[in-house]
Order: sequence, then C-alpha cells, then structure tokens
Amino acid sequence: MSRKTLTAVNPANDKVIGEHEMLSEPEIRAKLDAARHGFAELRKLPVAARARKLHAVADLIDKRQADIAEVICHEMGKKFGDVIAETRISAAIVRFYADNAEDYMAPKPKQVAGAQKAEVVRDPMGAVLGVMPWNYPLYQVVRFAAPNLAGGNACLLKHASNVPGSAKLITQLFHDAGFEEGTFTWLPVSSSEIAEIMRDPIVCGVTLTGSEEAGKSVAATAGELAKPSVLELGGIDPLIVLDDADIDKAVEIAIDGRFDNTGQSCAASKRLIVVEPLVERFTERLVDQVQKLRIGDPMDESTNIGPMSRKDLRDDLHDQVKRAVQKGAQLETGGEILDKPGAWYAPTVLTNAAPGNPAFDEELFGPVASVVIADDTEHAIELANNSPYGLGGTVVGQDVKRAEQVARRLDVGMSFVNRPTTPFAELPFGGVKGSGYGREQSEYGFGEFLNVRTVFVA
Ligand code: NAP
Repeated sequence: MSRKTLTAVNPANDKVIGEHEMLSEPEIRAKLDAARHGFAELRKLPVAARARKLHAVADLIDKRQADIAEVICHEMGKKFGDVIAETRISAAIVRFYADNAEDYMAPKPKQVAGAQKAEVVRDPMGAVLGVMPWNYPLYQVVRFAAPNLAGGNACLLKHASNVPGSAKLITQLFHDAGFEEGTFTWLPVSSSEIAEIMRDPIVCGVTLTGSEEAGKSVAATAGELAKPSVLELGGIDPLIVLDDADIDKAVEIAIDGRFDNTGQSCAASKRLIVVEPLVERFTERLVDQVQKLRIGDPMDESTNIGPMSRKDLRDDLHDQVKRAVQKGAQLETGGEILDKPGAWYAPTVLTNAAPGNPAFDEELFGPVASVVIADDTEHAIELANNSPYGLGGTVVGQDVKRAEQVARRLDVGMSFVNRPTTPFAELPFGGVKGSGYGREQSEYGFGEFLNVRTVFVA
C-alpha cells in the first residue's frame, strides 16, 4: 500500500514543491515512546542547561533566517521580508524564556503557620502536543515550544498540513540546537489522529492555535481525558477610529493592521469602526491607499500583498465577500479572484458592514477590510464588543488618554492604542470569549503545562 503524504504547494503559482511522508500507526507509537524517553532525559537536566539549548535555538533562527524565509515564503506565500520579521520575534521569544527560565522555575518559599518549610515549585508533566496553524509557521511553534522546553516538558508538533517543509526545517533547527528527537518531535499526521495521540499517557496537555471548530474538537477530547488545554483561536478584532484621529495616521495603522500577512492574522484589524464625522474622509483615503498596494511575488521586496496561503481558503473568502455584498455591504474596491495561477485575491474594502452582515459577524481571513459606521464613541465601543470573539483591539486617536480609556473597555485579551495588535515576548498573547483561553508569551505563557507543586514540611 502506498504511504500517505503531505503535499506542499506554492500558493504563488500552484506548483507542487514537496511531498512529505506521513506516519503510520506503529510509527506514531514509536514517536510517542521516543517522547517518553526524551521527557525523562529532559526533566533531569538543570534548568540552566535547557536554557543554554534554547539560546542555541535562538542563535540558529538568526543564522538561518534566509533559509527559513525561503521555505515559508514558498509554502504559504508570506512575503520574504515578513518572514525575516517573523524570525526576529521568534528568536526574541526563545531568548526571553532562555533568560527567564531559572527565575520562573526557582522554588518560591512561603511563610505558613506550622511549617518548618513551605514552598511552591514548578515541575514538568510530560509531552505537550502543539496543534499549529500555517499563518506564522515558525512563530506559532516557538510560542508553545520555548516555555515548555524551558520548563522541562517535551514537545510534540502537529503542524498544519500545508506547511510540512516548514515543520521539517523547524524540527531540524531544534535538533541541531541540542533538543534531540523525543524532546522535540514533529508528527506528520492528519488531524483525525490527534484524539488518539492525546490518549497516550505521555501527552500531558494540548495547545491549539487555529479555528474555533478545530479548537472545540481538541478541547472536547482534552475535557474527556481531564488534560489541560490552551486555545488560541480566531478573532474579528475591532479597530476604532475616534473623532480626533489623524486620518492619514489612522489609515496607515488600519492598512498595517488589516493587510499584513495578506490579511491572514488572527489578531488582524478585521472591523474598522469609524466614528461618523470621519467616515467619508477615512474611507476615501483607505480605498485610495488600498488601490496602491502592489500585488506580486512574495520574494520581491517591493511587493505589498502576496497570495493567500491556499486556494480553498481564497474561495471561501470570496464567498463571504459575495454574501456580504448581497446582504447590503458596499464593495468599494477589489472583491475578485485574480485570474492567474495561485491563490490570489484582490485587496478589498467593504463599507456598510453592520451587525447581521457577514463582513461584521464572520471572520474574513484574508485581505478584506470592513468599514463599520459608529454614531459616536459609545456606539463604537458597543459595536466593538458586539462579537462572539475577543482577541485584540486597537483604538486610534490623538488624545491618548481618552483612547486608552476606550481601549480598556474592549472585551478582549489585548488592547492597543495607536498601533495594531503586535506580539511582544514580554507581553501575554491570547483572548477571551470565542477567541479561546490561556495565554502564550511572557511569564503568563510559562506555567500553562507545569505542575505547581505545594511542598510543606511540618
Ligand atoms: P485550522 O484549520 O483550524 O488549522 C489549525 C490546526 O488545527 C492545523 O494543524 C489543522 O490541521 C488542525 N485541525 C483542523 N481541524 C481540526 C480538527 N477538527 N481537530 C483537530 N485539529 C484540527 O486553522 P487555520 O486555517 O490553519 O488557521 C486559521 C485560524 O487560526 C483562524 O481562525 C485564525 O484566526 C486562527 N489563529 C489564531 C491565532 C491566535 O493566536 N489566537 C493565531 C493564528 C491563527 P490540518 O492542517 O491538518 O487540517
């Protein structure tokens, strides 16, 4: 019987660029046994030794950034320069945990009545399964891997099916830095095999970044097994433009927040909520700037917008845009599939995106900006919070104090003022409501899969 494979297709031109063999059932079991052994070895290492290996990972990310960029660019269409930026934040996250692991893992003594000694320690628990998406193939992986490896947990990676070359390259990088097979393991498997993998006793928890549907499915299995889970899901993040905003600046932030990564970011500014007096001028300027975006080869430095990652996702997006227009949204520019090989979609602006319209209610995961009209600031906040999701939110205004007050009233995990939601190693990343639970990055992302052990000596 022929083996199942994962096929990588360049979304810029539809060319098949790689076939990667998937694991058979016995091979999956062998990988899980290797993880058992890897975990046993990893937990024995002093924290400082694991931190040294993480420093080696960060150094290798820096050294290999051009190779990483080429593979990711060809597999999912991200602009070469944007992958270089992705390698920088990824290296920063790995270094952050390498630098802070000893402090985070240090026993915390407590003064407790009746105790000769009382302290809280953190212990690793096993292998964490990371189910990851394709949109930031390296960054998403280090977000879960670095804190877990620092804490002594082994990592199992189920990467998205369309980025097998990236998964292989990332795995090699961890191995070359000293995290051998068994401590960091790529499982080229299909999503239907995840539940069975989670049943193995070595798997101590699961973290999924991806769609709500995938998250709920994995969390249901985790619930059944009473294993912890972290979910980093979708968002329809608001960007509120207040009445004192500078229009040029607001449009610049909106374009950056909406069209970065060809609009395929969880925390992209998907609903541009503009307070009434500015709507016309904002929309005019936005449409003008969007029409000037250069669509082209993601390897070319002058390109602003590359292809989407897959044709099926591009077609889904086009359906959403058509439904939005049928239901009353106005198409200002774009709204069409580009007639050439690859997953190309014209940068699009929709206006009149109101509650009840797909451009307001649904996550549009591609280069489509939806402009929402608000009567005033209070109405803008009400509209922003009228969403089943709550990942990030941005408020733009010249009175920074007022903008901050508005940003703090958004029902989200990340409030930004005068800047699109941006990841920083030191700050937690994650959302509320349908955007999931748990956090990655920062000290908050460190302990999600560690045993917080109480030690009491009478
Ligand atoms: P996706 O289809 O949910 O895939 C994500 C991962 O889950 C992939 O590894 C996928 O495997 C797996 N998967 C899919 N269906 C599954 C199921 N029923 N059970 C278990 N695993 C399953 O998402 P995507 O299209 O790659 O990514 C886009 C979504 O991710 C958007 O909603 C976006 O907002 C969200 N996202 C969130 C964050 C965050 O930090 N909050 C960051 C990035 C993206 P296969 O590839 O094999 O199907």
